[in-house]
Amino acid sequence: MLTGNQIREKFLSYFERQGHARIASSSLVPHNDPTLLFTNAGMNQFKDVFLGLEQRPYRRATTAQKCVRAGGKHNDLDTVGRTARHHTFFEMLGNFSFGDYFKRDAIRFAWEFLTEELGLPKERLYATIYLDDEEAFQLWQEIAGLPPEKIIRLGEKDNFWAMGDTGPCGPCSEILIDRGEEFRCDAPECFIGKCDCDRWLEIWNLVFMQYNRDADGTMTPLPRPSIDTGMGLERITSVIQNVSSNYETDLLLPYIKAVEEICGQPYQRDERGFPFRVIADHARSCTFLVGDGVLPSNEGRGYVLRRILRRAVRFGKILGINRPFLYELVAVVAREMGDAYPEVREKADYIARVIKLEEERFHVTLNEGMALVEQMIAEIKAAGGQEISGQQAFLLYDTYGFPLDLTEDAAAEHGLTVDKESFARAMAEQRERARAARGEGAYLTRVQELWAELGNKMGATPFLGYQHLEATAN
Ligand code: ATP
Ligand code: MG
Ligand code: MG
Ligand code: MG
Repeated sequence: MLTGNQIREKFLSYFERQGHARIASSSLVPHNDPTLLFTNAGMNQFKDVFLGLEQRPYRRATTAQKCVRAGGKHNDLDTVGRTARHHTFFEMLGNFSFGDYFKRDAIRFAWEFLTEELGLPKERLYATIYLDDEEAFQLWQEIAGLPPEKIIRLGEKDNFWAMGDTGPCGPCSEILIDRGEEFRCDAPECFIGKCDCDRWLEIWNLVFMQYNRDADGTMTPLPRPSIDTGMGLERITSVIQNVSSNYETDLLLPYIKAVEEICGQPYQRDERGFPFRVIADHARSCTFLVGDGVLPSNEGRGYVLRRILRRAVRFGKILGINRPFLYELVAVVAREMGDAYPEVREKADYIARVIKLEEERFHVTLNEGMALVEQMIAEIKAAGGQEISGQQAFLLYDTYGFPLDLTEDAAAEHGLTVDKESFARAMAEQRERARAARGEGAYLTRVQELWAELGNKMGATPFLGYQHLEATAN
């Protein structure tokens, strides 16, 4: 059986044989793109090539790209560990054509790779297309021999791909696999486009890049129609290895095993395994984010990292782990992924130190914070309430360093919700107070400049396009 590492290599070498240049993954921190929080797809590093603003010595490329979807347009933080198929960090395998081949070859390559190189059973594969894309409808029948009823028309939400609110975009066509009866869910209409369960597993998205969308929503055609595809390595590996979840592939299992050893309890595939899955996922995203220069902080990218990291720590605590532990998983990432991404091996010690420091910092307030949130929940339930107020969530944030997600997780575990709007108001008020206390103006500008300079020197990355996460230092 193929390992995840072998599948990655098989993909890249297949596309090399089809005339594609093999290009290294770009950093998770997008260069010179303030519209993007983190790299969320393989095409990001080629954005300007699609737009015709940059020339490259090749017109076909293939990559395995590090991606993080934990904020911005594509945010999967809440689904991680609940579905079998979503991560905050994952690898996207892609092939790209910059004004070279278009739909026909994109479909041909994908079909050939899946059915001949990987040997997937044709009868379990389906394609989705964008509403009235008759060309794709024809090509799937002609090239793949799919019967019309296995080509499903879906709307903008699923089959019009955009990297963000602006930038290259276009209609897309996706390949899904029926994972079989045993994955059937209880929904009355469990089928592609109607149901979001793990049975109809989306494995590959072929984007027919045709437009550039600008800030006011206007779409202008790209200089030349292009191709951008993305297939999640962890998903295709779960299919090839015939396991029911990404977490049981050899790509994720080593982290689950490491957590089992640290906490001394066995992993369970059901809801009880949720904390294990979250930690396994978050260990990879934290490692790669720190490796790419992000540092935990109270704003922008650094705050997203802090949220992910603290969430992992809290789930560790739920498993009874009362000491810094996440940093120990950095060595597992380096061991498992260091061949494909040498930077994690080279920087492993540094990354572990950064993560350990943040864990220690959070441990100081974690116990008290957790006790307080449990007490709040008990009182709310006793009074017949259903919601943690914004003030309470803010207290947990401000005094105990609990990002909102943590309070929401704790609330959800008891069937409660959090009043997010009033939390945001409390946040804004505090920001206002802090601003007034500091005095606006030249002083503040200078401080911001100094932070930016420092950030650049340290390789940290202030991110300015994501202000609703901004908070004053506490
Ligand atoms: P889904 O509908 O399952 O959330 P998507 O349509 O948002 O996926 P795309 O933007 O089309 O995903 O990304 C291309 C491919 O990357 C997907 O077909 C899938 O294989 C993979 N992928 C997307 N999001 C994730 C994720 N959060 N974790 C792991 N793999 C992912
Ligand atoms: Mg998605
Ligand atoms: Mg989708
Ligand atoms: Mg998709």
